[in-house]
Amino acid sequence: MRILIATSEVVPYAKTGGLADVCGALPVALAQLGHQPAVIVPGYRQAWSCGMSLEPLGIDFVIPVGSKTMAGHLLRGRLPGSEVPVYVVRQDEYYDREGLYGEGGKDYSDNCERFVFFSRAVLEAIRLLELEVDLIHANDWQTGLVPAYLKIEYQKVPRYRQVACLFTIHNIAYQGQFWHWDMLLTGLDWRHFNWHQMEFFGKLNLLKTGIVFADSINTVSPRYAEEIQTPQFGAGLHGVLQYRRDVLCGILNGIDTTVWNPATDPHLAAHYTAETVSQGKARCKAALQEETGLPRRSDVPLAGIISRLDRQKGLDIVADILPHWAADSDMQWVILGTGDPKLQRQLTQLAARYPKRIACRIGFSDPLAHRIEAGADLFVMPSRYEPCGLNQLYSLRYGTVPVVRQTGGLADTIVDVNQETLALGTANGFSFREDTPQALDETLHRAYDTYRRPDIWSQLVQTGMRQDWSWSRSAKEYVTLYEATIRRLTSPEAP
Ligand code: ADP
Repeated sequence: MRILIATSEVVPYAKTGGLADVCGALPVALAQLGHQPAVIVPGYRQAWSCGMSLEPLGIDFVIPVGSKTMAGHLLRGRLPGSEVPVYVVRQDEYYDREGLYGEGGKDYSDNCERFVFFSRAVLEAIRLLELEVDLIHANDWQTGLVPAYLKIEYQKVPRYRQVACLFTIHNIAYQGQFWHWDMLLTGLDWRHFNWHQMEFFGKLNLLKTGIVFADSINTVSPRYAEEIQTPQFGAGLHGVLQYRRDVLCGILNGIDTTVWNPATDPHLAAHYTAETVSQGKARCKAALQEETGLPRRSDVPLAGIISRLDRQKGLDIVADILPHWAADSDMQWVILGTGDPKLQRQLTQLAARYPKRIACRIGFSDPLAHRIEAGADLFVMPSRYEPCGLNQLYSLRYGTVPVVRQTGGLADTIVDVNQETLALGTANGFSFREDTPQALDETLHRAYDTYRRPDIWSQLVQTGMRQDWSWSRSAKEYVTLYEATIRRLTSPEAP
């Protein structure tokens, strides 16, 4: 199959979050399965400085954006370690900026215009590059207009008639909402500005647009696909998602098992596999304690946290229970994160108050993240919602037992310990339902007690380490979904 992946982020050309990792890894896995993927991305400043060579293709084009006509160029790079082409859309007025979507905590005021341009450029690129495409895989609100342009305008042209479109929602909280006059920028008829299509409480909503016009929709875990159809998790879009539920599914993201591999990870003090985990982890734990200034103790459990400090991640719940855990138990904590200034302050103060129990690093550090995954015994993720989540998957691979809230991808990947799941050999962590300090507290007590039972703990570690969360597994599911989506377009009666 020939798949064009339209995304506003792809590693290493542009990254602010998990979307970039997905769009960097999935195409490589698709190519390994014998398909022909290509990626198209805006030419942000990051793209010119990321060290990848970009070949000018000598292709210039113009795009109507409202009453203006904007010029663009196409360049071609490759995804690292592969032959997968990355088409970069150059338009310096829009993309040659400090940030991807904003600066200093403020979104760029012309974001709608920037992604109108990019979405149309995706469709124009197919014609200009004479690409044969079976399916466009659009991602998140930045490319929400791609399925709309395809359905409303481009499918009238023979080259596009057989092009199907899948739209992936990576996080429903980010919807790309703009005031209604931005509808003029899209060039689409006002008749589409209605509550069944592009309008959402008086505003233009690009995520909703993608959901409405795509042939198929997916999210990054099966549980999240269910959850977003409810008022609690749907961020207002549960109605339209329920309406489209026949074509909505969830596919878990994979992890990059070359980067996240305790047997080869260059950031670690010692390397280990499932066979050598107890010795290897003990050395990594001691090194982590040393690095973060915690007492070097092998006999107490060490809990790790790596996270954006945001309400979504439930770190305020952790902050609620930390004083009692630090005062009344010997458990140690290493916390790495950035985000909400209030939480940063709170966690830093707690670490200062309990230096023997809590180490807190405010900032973003990939090497330290690797060392926490390897050195911690358990990994705490009490997210209020979690479309997929990656850290629990890294933790499983590193023999670090996850303690998670049962939501989204966390619910799909972590099997809570009980008699039955232990007997079945499926237990790989601890989970709880309510987003309350009490629920987390109780679950941590269960984890703490289990840590004192090496036979059970070792079973959890072994089960997690032997599971397959690689991209090749996820890519196979995407192939099946692409095929079903193409069938749906070419023979609409097909399931
Ligand atoms: P989200 O994309 O919602 O932030 P995920 O769990 O899907 O959450 O992915 C987050 C990724 O970012 C993981 O790879 C995690 O290790 C990394 N990460 C988050 N915060 C930090 C940090 N402060 N330092 C290093 N890595 C971080």
